Amino acid sequence: MMLDQVALSVRALVEYVFRSGSLDSGFRTMSTLTEGTKAHQKIQKQYEDQDQKEVYVSAEIPYEDLLFVVDGRCDGLLFAEDGSVTVDEIKSTSRDIGTMTEADSSPVHWAQAKFYAYMYALDHGVERIRVRLTYVQVETEEQKRFDQELTFEELLLYVTDIVERYAPYARLLEWNKRIRDASIADLVFPFPGYREGQKKLVGAVYKSIEEGRKLFAKAPTGIGKTMSTLYPTIKAIGLGKVQHLFYLTARTITRTAAEDALALMRAQGLNLRSVTVTAKDKICFQEEVDCRKEKCPYADGYYDRINGAILDLLGNETLMNRDTIETYARKHTVCPFEMSLDVAYGADAVICDYNYMFDPRVALKRLSAEYKHQTTLLIDEAHNLIDRAREMYSAVLEKKDFLGLEREFKGARPNIHAAAKAINKWFIALKKQSAEQVTVSKERPDELLELVEAFVAEAERELAGSHSGVVSGMLLEIYFAALSFLRIGKLYDESYVTYTEVVRNDVRLKMFCMNPSSLLRQMGKGFRSHVFFSATLSPLNYFMDMLGSEEEDYSLTLGSPFAKEQWDVSVVPLSTRYVDRERTKAALVSLLQKRVNEQPGNYLFFFPSYEYMNGVYESFMECNEKVSTLLQTSEMVEEARESFLAAFAADNEQTLIGFAVMGGIFSEGIDLVGDRLRGVVVVGVGMPQLGLERNLIKGYFDEEGRNGFNYAYVYPGMNKVLQAGGRLIRSEQDRGVLMLIDDRYLQPQYSRLLPEEWRR
Ligand code: SF4
Repeated sequence: MMLDQVALSVRALVEYVFRSGSLDSGFRTMSTLTEGTKAHQKIQKQYEDQDQKEVYVSAEIPYEDLLFVVDGRCDGLLFAEDGSVTVDEIKSTSRDIGTMTEADSSPVHWAQAKFYAYMYALDHGVERIRVRLTYVQVETEEQKRFDQELTFEELLLYVTDIVERYAPYARLLEWNKRIRDASIADLVFPFPGYREGQKKLVGAVYKSIEEGRKLFAKAPTGIGKTMSTLYPTIKAIGLGKVQHLFYLTARTITRTAAEDALALMRAQGLNLRSVTVTAKDKICFQEEVDCRKEKCPYADGYYDRINGAILDLLGNETLMNRDTIETYARKHTVCPFEMSLDVAYGADAVICDYNYMFDPRVALKRLSAEYKHQTTLLIDEAHNLIDRAREMYSAVLEKKDFLGLEREFKGARPNIHAAAKAINKWFIALKKQSAEQVTVSKERPDELLELVEAFVAEAERELAGSHSGVVSGMLLEIYFAALSFLRIGKLYDESYVTYTEVVRNDVRLKMFCMNPSSLLRQMGKGFRSHVFFSATLSPLNYFMDMLGSEEEDYSLTLGSPFAKEQWDVSVVPLSTRYVDRERTKAALVSLLQKRVNEQPGNYLFFFPSYEYMNGVYESFMECNEKVSTLLQTSEMVEEARESFLAAFAADNEQTLIGFAVMGGIFSEGIDLVGDRLRGVVVVGVGMPQLGLERNLIKGYFDEEGRNGFNYAYVYPGMNKVLQAGGRLIRSEQDRGVLMLIDDRYLQPQYSRLLPEEWRR
């Protein structure tokens, strides 16, 4: 009988089998490992000459219809003079280990050590072996060892029990894969024919997967980008080129488009498991996101129930969207957000925000090298990734948080109090030294990072020690901020600056990533291929540069499938520069009124900022009698957004104008087809407001020998213009009026960035 192969690491195997407890149990079970490598190396240095460290071990373990191919790296093999062997597994912790006994050690750690011992014993025919767990306290370097001596027979029984417990999950994945691949073999492109450009994109995506390259595709609206990227990737899955895909987006609406495309293929017989990860604050079942087990029943005992929940979900569903996740999470009383992440490891397709792949603080952490090698990343609306990446790779700390902690823990917990006080004091000293309100430095704030590291260690000790007491919410929140500050500190290189701002009594310090390209490259390392696509990757070389392209990567530019005649484009050379706005406001308002009077219908007017939009709106309304208007606000909830868009009906009797901002929720990812939108007016060139961060970016790229002004202002601004204007024509039948108001559109620096179909 042919056995189904299950290849995985020892760590993945034992973590699955032994996970237990609550979501915040990391603090309680010594699994919060910091500074692990340093502590490991220190212990390994104490080994004798004949001992070995970092030893690769592997084994094939048949179990019924399965063949487990398991491997890992054991920390140490110690050889005694009497010929006996000890397998050493080192675990570092920030917890106090002075009173620790063997009963406090973690079953996951034992399982890992015993598995390595089994593999070594099997390979070398050893009958009896010692298994050692070495715990090391990261700060004091205090060590604690626990030894067990086991026979080969005992180890064999032990590992058999582990693979037996993993087997139902392995079988389910194997079964799902078989029916998936059979269904893909019969799958055809789910439309009667290919639109113009679509076939090229489909072919390029497939080729980039086959050759393991990155592809940067500028593919205009109307090509059907979602299907043109998903379909070839799924075909590649069916042919065994890859096993998984991630569809990464910046917003919910594009996630829905990916779900719809998969639904269409499902209707044609595709049997593929996809999961959509919805943001924690949106999908949370509780009134307030507070994941401490004392506060949330879905967090309490989460790991005791999650394996059963996932087997149920993966065994019964293929479309795991928000509704499905919620249903199963309620059924098994587990957190829906964490469940969506845990099920992602067993799904074929994952639809989620960029964060889960590129943000070192929230990324899916358990993706093995093997998994990555079999995965394709489809990055939709990739133009958004640059600024999102800047956010992901930057980190901020504020003085007031540590002052708050200092007060809360005064007299109660001297260590936390002292650690928070030290940081607060550091900020006070900084404030005294700074003559300016804002100071900028290229140096990493090492002194602060050291204090933050000490604080994190104290906070972990405190959080891990609260066995029965309630964990302080404030401490937890600041602990996470401090932890992410430390993580970002480790990434700090020449693409960063540190700046501080003094605002009244508070001080805010930010490590700001100006150029995220190398970090994006690093985070995406190991994946089989990436497809970055958007209608507005323009100019393409700027986006390729910023998104971390390499020499051998592919690029593709496709023309619009729509005819030039569908657009009626005009440029009005009126200055909308900040200094001219009051002066030109009256002229602008009368232009806008003339526009809608001449041609009634539904319009979207886009502005570069709320402030500018509100000012023009007020003046417009003073003499507006005949048209209905809608105004975008910065706090619009989902229903308000939906009713804004719903008002754009094709049969409106009265002219309707939506006042909106560029780069906002109505300027990207919305489709108002046919008469739902007759005209778009773009006021200005979309330039981001002049400000500290933009100027830092400008300076950085100037120094790098590139055009800093273009990189910081012109390209991001024009991208917003292209997105806003792109709302107008959404199908072959659409016709519409596009008015670009700004004299800079007549300058080559800007006009060359306009799409071909807008040029006259
Ligand atoms: S349901 Fe909400 S509060 Fe509970 S664990 Fe999940 S996200 Fe946290």
